[in-house]
Amino acid sequence: MQEDRPRKGLRYAVHSVRFTVWIYFAIFIIAILVLMWITFIMTLETNYKNRRRADINTAAAYITEHIESGSLTSRKLYDLAYSYDMCIVIQDKFGITLYSYDVSPGRCLIHGSAESELSEYRRKAEEKGSFYTQIRSLDTGTENMLYVSTLGAEETLGYLMINTSTEPIQSTVNVIRAQMIQISLAMLILGFGISIFLSRLISTPITRITRSAEKLGQGDHNVQFNGKGYNETEQLARTLNFASEEITKVDTMRRDLMANISHDLRTPLTMVKAYAEMIRDLSGDDPVKRDEHLGIIIEESDRLAALVNDILDLTKLENGGSELDLQEFDLGSRISSIMTRYTILSERDGYSFYVSVPDGITVKADPIKFDQVIYNLVNNAVNYSGDGKEIYVTAVRMENGTEISVTDTGEGISKELLPLIFDRYYRAEKSKREVIGTGLGLSIVKQILIMHGFEFGVRSEEGVGSTFWFRTK
Ligand code: ADP
Repeated sequence: MQEDRPRKGLRYAVHSVRFTVWIYFAIFIIAILVLMWITFIMTLETNYKNRRRADINTAAAYITEHIESGSLTSRKLYDLAYSYDMCIVIQDKFGITLYSYDVSPGRCLIHGSAESELSEYRRKAEEKGSFYTQIRSLDTGTENMLYVSTLGAEETLGYLMINTSTEPIQSTVNVIRAQMIQISLAMLILGFGISIFLSRLISTPITRITRSAEKLGQGDHNVQFNGKGYNETEQLARTLNFASEEITKVDTMRRDLMANISHDLRTPLTMVKAYAEMIRDLSGDDPVKRDEHLGIIIEESDRLAALVNDILDLTKLENGGSELDLQEFDLGSRISSIMTRYTILSERDGYSFYVSVPDGITVKADPIKFDQVIYNLVNNAVNYSGDGKEIYVTAVRMENGTEISVTDTGEGISKELLPLIFDRYYRAEKSKREVIGTGLGLSIVKQILIMHGFEFGVRSEEGVGSTFWFRTK
């Protein structure tokens, strides 16, 4: 019992829903942050440089196009240089500077280079048409991107040189990094907060249900499961409420059953004891009285045996311990042979049995269990037929299968009781013990018919009689 109780402690906590949700959420946040940082560190610089290169391309294309059409003005060049933040120099084919815009004085590679270096750039451009290069200035330590291209379609008419510093990236990175640290911290705090809240939210209904289940386990049948929060837990709570109601029902039934069985066992036992004592003390020498008393003892023993047999039969059927031995047999002859046993009742007690079974009907069933069904139904018809004393056993061929019914002209069963009579140990008017019966007969019938997969039911009208029927396949 102790082991079933929820365990506390570290191991329990680590395997709890709350901790699992929390840890996964935390891992998720950390993963996002790591990804963000990696992306930031690895790609920001490359992206920035690509962007600057694209800017240079745009400016160079613009200049080339307008210089060829003769529409390039110094105003436009000035705008270009300052809007893109790049130094622009245009030289003629002899290396004489025609236009020059220096947006970062002292740091530009073109404006700060000696003529020998510039002629080297021109030579390289002549060779390739145009080229890019990244150079770190030794003086200032700043990094520059240099672009040089020749101008002119067929022959070189001049040179275009563009220089831009890629240095601002460093200060930008610093600003962004500071911001990212703040964002990361905020995300961590918020994320952990949300994850704790979320894990609590998820585990609360489960914990609530567990507490109720513990109470149920301790025998509190009034417990109500509350799974409010999610569809799944609500569904679970509904199922558990249903299970709890069923457990309560079974428990009540078990108590009733015990009470009924004990009562039914005690009554004949008391009788047996009382009559045995009577024979010993009083009637032992009086053969007539003695035989009468012995007769009662035998009757009561039979009653006991019937009860015990029924209990055993039902337990076996319900536990699935009994298997079907399916055989095909002729219905007419089977029912006739069962009914011969009732001859004594018709001769002695004036019962009339009307059997109507068409010839040639075969049925596939377990013969012994089939007999048990018919016996139980006919016995009930006899027991409850009252003054009617007419019992009809009828078989009718149906579209698929045969309907077999046992009808009596007894007192009938009220509408309210009809759904209950197949329940184990149900007996109408429980005080009415003079009718021989164990209250288990119809439960046995029901179990056997269910095992066969046969449909069954009862039609009854109070004061008119009852018809118990089942349909073979
Ligand atoms: P019992 O041993 O009491 O007959 P059953 O399980 O066979 O137990 O029947 C359950 C109850 O159903 C009976 O106690 C009786 O109240 C009712 N019942 C069964 N058959 C009939 C019938 N043919 N006519 C009226 N009531 C019946």
